[in-house]
Amino acid sequence: MSWELVIRQKFSSAHFLENYKGKCERMHGHTFELEVRLRTTELDKSGISIDFGPVKEYLRGLVPDHRVLNEAYDFSPSAENLARYFYRRIREKYPVVKVIVWESEDAGAAYAEDQ
Ligand SMILES: [Zn+2]
Repeated sequence: MSWELVIRQKFSSAHFLENYKGKCERMHGHTFELEVRLRTTELDKSGISIDFGPVKEYLRGLVPDHRVLNEAYDFSPSAENLARYFYRRIREKYPVVKVIVWESEDAGAAYAEDQ
């Protein structure tokens, strides 16, 4: 028996892809969406497992809103690399099983590690 909690946090940032030939080599922006999935197996007496409020607050502090991602990080800020980075940060605090970074409504990258 388990639950997967899903929490989403939007952020608007600019980036360009390094070592890449194509239109994304030029600076452009997205309203990204960070989607986080946490797995839990127990509920407390009120029927919840992990309170959404503190998770949302943590994610708000984690996302690089209104930043140039290439300046914020020392890796090429593709959706794939961002998903791995966020996964490893969130893992320090919450039982994360998957992170998806959406660049648009219909394109994103999911990252998970073997449990
Ligand atoms: Zn892009």
